[in-house]
This record gives sequence, structure tokens and C-alpha cells, in this order.
Amino acid sequence: MTDAKPARQRSLRDHNLALALGLVSTASSPLSRARIAALSGLTRATASALVEELLEAGLVCEVALPRTARSGRPATGIALSAGGLGGLGLEINVDYLAATVVDLTGAVVEQVVAEGDQRGRDPVEVLAALRSLALATQKAARPVRVVGAALALPGLLRDRRLLLAPNLGWRDVDIRLGRGLEPALDNEANYAALAEVTTVRQSFVHVSGEIGIGMGIVVAGNVYRGTRGWSGEIGHLTVEHDGPRCSCGARGCLEVFAGQEAIARHGAERAGTALGTALAGVLNVLDLNTVVLGGCYAGMASALIPAIQHELRDRVLWAGLEAPVVEVAVHGRSAAVLGAARSVVTRVLSSPRDLIVTGFR
Ligand SMILES: [Zn+2]
Repeated sequence: MTDAKPARQRSLRDHNLALALGLVSTASSPLSRARIAALSGLTRATASALVEELLEAGLVCEVALPRTARSGRPATGIALSAGGLGGLGLEINVDYLAATVVDLTGAVVEQVVAEGDQRGRDPVEVLAALRSLALATQKAARPVRVVGAALALPGLLRDRRLLLAPNLGWRDVDIRLGRGLEPALDNEANYAALAEVTTVRQSFVHVSGEIGIGMGIVVAGNVYRGTRGWSGEIGHLTVEHDGPRCSCGARGCLEVFAGQEAIARHGAERAGTALGTALAGVLNVLDLNTVVLGGCYAGMASALIPAIQHELRDRVLWAGLEAPVVEVAVHGRSAAVLGAARSVVTRVLSSPRDLIVTGFR
């Protein structure tokens, strides 16, 4: 019983710290301490103490506010610290490795892509190359200090193991990058979808063409990951029962018709029809009405969209009531690595205490 009160007070203070930082990070302009107090419902003294703690941790900074007519004195505003702390996003994909550092405002500070076919390469060799790329990118991003990392992978994960990545030809690979660098892990499609969330675009499927095809399902700003984080494998949705053999071993998967290599061989029209057919099923099942085309699809959207829309109009049950929307991703190929980097920042902003106490690695 004696410990209960301090623990409760601590968690309340952590909650308030996250609340104050949340207000600063979502505000459209810097907030005064008085405004933070008013918006949070905390006392002025409590809000000021929290702001001091955030300033000390380097999460926020002071900026001059315009003089108010009432006092005539220059006021000080609190804003997210740009260029101070940052998140490192990493990606292993079939034909490149990538690393990106973003600051707390989400702005890209440094971005490096190393092109090269990773298929059939020894995972140990690829992970070592990624480590070098990560360290070089962190260094190039200075003075921004990286406080955490996240790695986007093209396959199914459990804990720190990449169980299956058919397009890399990898099975049951232990994903470790070595000393001082232990990134959070998730499927590339989930991170890519996160990068496309905006204040006006909150619920959609993001379908991304590479050698394989990834899909991230976003509902009200959050990625729907399924029970094990394995949702969104649209590339292996059957579009032709007895169709050509896919890298997964099954026949007639969407990937065989709409993967990057299939498009190079057979053109965008066939790919668009297959994509539209598969996506119509997805929209019908999930009650979502917006498709965002990413990866290689972003650059060829004008060639794909007519065939996709044709199938959606024919196959989505409610298409006559509310037309499905097909949009082009803002970030294209860099979405997954950017989403990974931003996920680190989101984690810091939602749990600032973790950063302050543990240094957040
Ligand atoms: Zn397949």
C-alpha cells in the first residue's frame, strides 16, 4: 500500500508530460505556457514545470511570440525542437537498402538509398551492409541526435525473426544489427501506410508495388496489423485460380500480374485490371473507400487508374452510392523508410518519459 501513491503520482506526471508534449506537437503554431495550461486543464505552475522538463530533454524549444496588444511584452512560445533529436528509419527491400533520419517535426534531415539486388544474398552480409549505412546516415544527420531506430522488412515477422520473405529468398532470419543499434521491426507495408496518413486522409488502404506487392490498412489514423502483424498480404490474393506460379508457391496471385516485373513484361493495363479486381474485394470486406497507390505504382498511376477504377465501379457493392476514391501516394518508394523513421518520433512524442529515463534505444 505504501508504494501505491508515489507510483500513481509518477504515472500521472508521465501522462501529463505526454499531454503537454502532444499539445505542442499538434498545434499549428507555438503555444505559450499559459495556453498549454489552459488547453490541458493543468495549473499554470504544473504546466510550467512540465515545459521545463521537456526543454531540458531537448524535445521542445522556446521561440519568440508576437507581442500581445494587452501586455505589450514579448511572450515566449513553446514549439517542437526542430533539428535537435531525431528518429532513424531503415529498410531492406528486394532491390535496395535505405536509411532516413527525420527530426521531431517529421522533416527529413538525411536520406540515403543504396541500390542493389538483395535476392539470394547472405542475410548476414546484407545486415552488415545495412548497419554501415545506418551508422553513416546517423553521422551525416548530425547535429541531429538519433534517439531510436525502426526497420522496415518485406516479409512476415515474429519477435526479432524474419520468418518468411519470399522475394528475398529468406527464411527464419535473426534480425540483429549489432551493438548500439536494435531497431523496432515491422513489415514495410505497415510503415509505408503510416507515412501516407495526413490530417485529412485517415482511413484507406495503401497498396505499394515493388517486386512484391504490400498493403497497409489504415483505420482512423492507425495501422490495422492483424493478430500477428501479418495483415495486408494482397500480393498473394488469388486473381486467377489456375494462373501462373507465384514466388510463394501458389498459382494466380496478384503479384504474378501486378508485381514490378510482371508490369515490365506485360504492361500496366493487365496489372490495373488485376489490381482493381483484388482491391474491390478488399474494399468490400473492410468497408474502406479510399485506395492510395504507392511504390512503383505512384509513378505509373495515370496508366493504372482507369483499369482500377473500371473494376472498382463494377465490383464494389456501394460504388453507385459512393464512388471509391483512388489517390496517388505522396512518398512513392521512400514511404516505408520514412514511415519507419516517423514511427520512432511518434513513440518519443507519445512517451517522452521513456526518452528521458532510458535514453530510448
Ligand atoms: Zn503468391
